[in-house]
Amino acid sequence: MAQTHAQPNAFHGVDVPNYDVIVNCMHCGLCLPTCPTYALTGLERSSPRGRIRLIKAVADGDLPITQSFIDEMNFCLDCQACETACPAGVKYGSLVEAARVQIQEGGYESAFTSLIKRVFLRWFFLRQSRLKILARFMRFYQRSGLQTLVLRTKMLRLISRKLHDIQPLSPKISSHFSSDELAERILPNGPVLHRVAFLTGCLMDVAFADINTDTIELLKHHGCEILIPREQGCCGSLQAHNGDMHAARQMAVNNMKRFARLDVEAIVMNSAGCGAFMKEYGHVFHDDPERAGVAAEISAKTLDITEFLDRIGYRPATSDRNPYAGKRVTYHDACHLAHTQKITQEPRRLLRSIPGIDLVELPESTWCCGSAGIYNVVHYDDSMQLLDRKLTNVRSIAPQIIVTGNPGCLLQIQHGLNKDGMKIELLHTATFLRRACGI
Ligand code: SF4
Ligand code: SF4
Repeated sequence: MAQTHAQPNAFHGVDVPNYDVIVNCMHCGLCLPTCPTYALTGLERSSPRGRIRLIKAVADGDLPITQSFIDEMNFCLDCQACETACPAGVKYGSLVEAARVQIQEGGYESAFTSLIKRVFLRWFFLRQSRLKILARFMRFYQRSGLQTLVLRTKMLRLISRKLHDIQPLSPKISSHFSSDELAERILPNGPVLHRVAFLTGCLMDVAFADINTDTIELLKHHGCEILIPREQGCCGSLQAHNGDMHAARQMAVNNMKRFARLDVEAIVMNSAGCGAFMKEYGHVFHDDPERAGVAAEISAKTLDITEFLDRIGYRPATSDRNPYAGKRVTYHDACHLAHTQKITQEPRRLLRSIPGIDLVELPESTWCCGSAGIYNVVHYDDSMQLLDRKLTNVRSIAPQIIVTGNPGCLLQIQHGLNKDGMKIELLHTATFLRRACGI
């Protein structure tokens, strides 16, 4: 791997929005107390301010790209809590993502990392049909008793402790895939009040199909006609956050073809990461004359399910028909909802409108749970420390139900609850909102 040659203007070849704003860091340090990796190490280089200094030095050609630079970029969760805290509007997320693109495109990654990313994040995710093959294999492994055997005998430990540790974090594959089951056009039971499109997603499609069904039922209940374009797939978010902008663009192009110029008022999604990236399509393709218009249109129409319901008026059931009346409920903010999309009030307004529930604020609710895409796989030990902090906060308010709006957070927090034997129900926001409607 190349280690030391300088990269003058290293980020000029990579799409970094508002570079002037990004480098506008005043070094005030207001972002430091909000940074989970700084809290873990106490080191300036693991803080947003420290990383900005490193990135700028590399971009200006004053510092070579070294292994420690790469490690620091990958140690960052890209949770973007620092962006929320920054008074100068520094777009830190775009900056670290551009650095990761530079690392990948410059060939600085190890051959092994590069191979794993190409096979899993690129090849399998590029076509939903390929991901479904992998998912069927996983489903067989999970349901045939093989996984139980492997976990009980701890045989993976013989190959690698890491493989053994991360196994329980793998998503449970659904008994059916939502893209196989849901019709291309779904009508509400009553009159049509709204017309929307819906992203079935990649992992949501194969591992969270029930949450997709809950979202569809919720939309139908609110008078929506729903269009679900065929051949849609991964939005490219996972790839973009991990430096593979080439694959991310390919995936975005596919989805743009499917969702282009649909006569709908919104493109609704239920995964925080997908919404965050589809809202970026407009920027990603801003200099592509062929695609800029469609990309901007898709970004403008993209809404998280909580944003959409908050706009049109959520209609929960009365407390006698609401299974959660009298329950103590809390809400965990997914980073890509709270920090990237700035969606914090909408879900809380919806939850507060449900008659009879006891909504309790979770301390540090916007502090990353440690999931962060594939962070809990590649930085397992660090991510477990963040999870422990989340669980300590959960314990302090003793909720009966935790609600959150991102599949990664669901997997991570459920892993923590299982590990600690905590009997708390964990639900996706769409599932909770659907059930609270009595449907
Ligand atoms: S994105 Fe998160 S982990 Fe990375 S520097 Fe900002 S606050 Fe820290
Ligand atoms: S990123 Fe923002 S909050 Fe952090 S040091 Fe720079 S100006 Fe201050």
